[in-house]
Formats: sequence, C-alpha cells, structure tokens
Amino acid sequence: MRLRNVPGSRETIADSEFVTHNEESYKGHWKDIFQNDNPIHIEIGMGKGTFIMEMARTYPNINFIGIEKYSSVLVRALEKREEEPELKNLTFIRMDAEYIENVFDEEEVSEIYLNFSDPWPKDRNAKRRLTSSRFLGRYTHILKKDGHITFKTDNVDLFEFSVDTANECGWKIDCITRDLHNSEYNKGNIMTEYEKKFSGLGHKINMMKIHQ
Ligand code: SAM
Repeated sequence: MRLRNVPGSRETIADSEFVTHNEESYKGHWKDIFQNDNPIHIEIGMGKGTFIMEMARTYPNINFIGIEKYSSVLVRALEKREEEPELKNLTFIRMDAEYIENVFDEEEVSEIYLNFSDPWPKDRNAKRRLTSSRFLGRYTHILKKDGHITFKTDNVDLFEFSVDTANECGWKIDCITRDLHNSEYNKGNIMTEYEKKFSGLGHKINMMKIHQ
C-alpha cells in the first residue's frame, strides 16, 4: 500500500471511540470490550477496512477486530467506520502484528484473515511476511485449536511461499484455490479493497484456508 503521511492521523486515532487503545491491557479480556461471549475474528493488515466492515455487517453475532500498522491508513478506515456507529461488533487496533501475542491470550481468537498481505519480495525480508513461519508460530498461540486462517492474495510468489510454509509448519489445508472467483469457494466471498482492484485488472485471486 502506498503510504502518504496524513497530518493529524495520530491525534484522530487517539481520540476515536472506534479504536481500542492500550490493547495489551485487554489480553484475555476482549469479551469486556464487546460485552458478550461471541467468537472473535481478526483481520491483520486491514488497510482501509472495507472487508472487515462488510464482515461485521454480515455477521452481527461475531466480534471483529481490524488490525493495522499505520496511522495514515487506519485513519482512512475510521472515516468509513464513523458513518456506521451502530456496528457494535467491530473495533480497530493500530499496532504491528509482530506483537500480537501481547494482545491476545492463548486461544482467544477463532479466525484470522490475512488479505493481500505485503509480499516483501526480497528473500532477506521473508520473515516480515505475515505468512512466514515466525508469524504462523505466533498465530498458533492465539488461535483456538479448531480455528482457521484464511489467506487471499493475487501475488503468486507470496501465495506459493505461504502454501509451502504452512505445510512445513504442519498446518493442514482445508481448501485452496488459485482462482477464487471462478471456484466453488467464491460463494459468500466478501471482497477486500485490493481484491476489487486487482481482480478488476484481470488478476486471479489465490485463497487458502488452513488450520493447526
Ligand atoms: N487487507 C487490505 C485489502 O486487502 O484491501 C489491505 C492490503 S494492504 C496491501 C496490506 C496492509 O497491511 C497495509 O495497510 C499495511 O500497512 C498492513 N500491514 C503490513 N504489515 C503489517 C503488520 N506487521 N501489522 C499490521 N498491519 C500490517
């Protein structure tokens, strides 16, 4: 994602009721934020939040947490979020997912969505990929034993790397397609902002759903 500094974004986020601040203090207590016991689904690297907002509208009995590293991106998601204050099952966190285990307790999360994650194409940056073995190890701790990760990307190299890494780390593949929009798995698919953009350019969308 092209990053442009948005003046005032940090202040806007700090003042927002739609962002959970001091997120580490909620480790093991996320149900207090939502005031119910519904399952928690997170999207890591939500960008402008198109996908997770539609998920929250579609599944009111699931609690959604959108995680984004950069204030200048999160502030764009907030602009849309503020138009729908009635969505009680959605909050945002500004954080680097590297520290995800400081924020969620063992098995606190039911599902993780990784959508169009940054590819980090150079080998020396492979560990930064959100589907690297280091990140999969972190997800193992926070994800319920029967939970899943769903990963979508148009980037073929990142997808093949992610399939190989999941296999090497002992994750099991529930479903996989290299052309999501023309597959049996497209029913009920909610498109992300990048998915709309890249499928519009004719790129095929890869998807896999994995569990431990
Ligand atoms: N998921 C959105 C979509 O599909 O439209 C946005 C995709 S965009 C290419 C990737 C997003 O992930 C960017 O907004 C980036 O800032 C965020 N991101 C990358 N690394 C991250 C990390 N370690 N923790 C949290 N967010 C991250």
